[in-house]
Amino acid sequence: MKIPFQVNLENKVVVITGAGGVLCSMMAEAVAMCGAKVALLDRNVQAAQANADAIAAKGYIAKGYEANVLEKESLEVAHKAILSDLGSCDILINGAGGNNPKATTDKEYFEIGDLENSDIKSFFDLDQAGVEFVFNLNFIGTLLPTQEFAKDMVLKKHASILNISSMNAYTPLTKIPAYSGAKSAISNFTQWLAVHFSKTGIRVNAIAPGFFATKQNQALLFNEDGTPTPRTGKILEATPMRRFGEAEELLGSVLFLLNDEASSFITGVCIPIDGGFSAYAGV
Ligand code: NAD
Repeated sequence: MKIPFQVNLENKVVVITGAGGVLCSMMAEAVAMCGAKVALLDRNVQAAQANADAIAAKGYIAKGYEANVLEKESLEVAHKAILSDLGSCDILINGAGGNNPKATTDKEYFEIGDLENSDIKSFFDLDQAGVEFVFNLNFIGTLLPTQEFAKDMVLKKHASILNISSMNAYTPLTKIPAYSGAKSAISNFTQWLAVHFSKTGIRVNAIAPGFFATKQNQALLFNEDGTPTPRTGKILEATPMRRFGEAEELLGSVLFLLNDEASSFITGVCIPIDGGFSAYAGV
């Protein structure tokens, strides 16, 4: 993997949730390449460990840990292990997040007649538990790890938290009201936390990835045979650069925001990495 530039994260302990996944495993490797000791946390410990092993095999320092971002005790257990294996946390990347089909409408627009059609999951059929799952995973799943790991950071001269927002935070996408609302909450929480921690050495920022083809959105973007769905066409039409992002294109902003020399006076911002999507009105 290539990183766009090197920053000095020597001796920094970086904790990353959702690091069994596509985007965060990439961020894990990038910070490891800059000298950090990386703790990869995921509910799916096999995925976290496999990603950590792949990074360690390249000569960097990385370890996988089981942690559910929605369970305080699970985070406490992981935290204790990290303290003993790597040291106290300097940087936290809150990467765990995602959507759920139960919180997704079948159609983009409600039409008269949908109410009588039991084959269509309309707004009125959205499942409360599904909506709560999405809100909790994205928002509570950022709040609890921050409560756990920011305890290490409050006494440090330089520390940093990076949250993952989304394009949905600016303008909600059709079909996914819960994910849109939850990511909006993440952008808002990033600002709140930045202000709250401004008397400490902790800076709090976010990135808002545009459209990246990963596991999470595979079903929305591609048909089972691999051909693009109509939604994919609309996304590309609304992205001035007319393409999906490559996961590696997130890394420049990530390294910039995490590095104190590069962004020491920046806190409370959310950088869109979106090929122009959030800037484009469509005409
Ligand atoms: P991914 O599905 O590849 O990875 C998410 C990881 O989170 C998985 O490994 C999963 O096991 C883990 N996870 C889920 N629930 C968890 C829990 N309760 N506790 C601990 N770990 C849990 O997703 P990704 O595409 O790499 O996305 C990473 C982040 O970026 C997410 O917050 C996502 O919402 C956000 N995001 C992604 C895109 C995109 O295009 N992929 C765009 C905008 C924002």
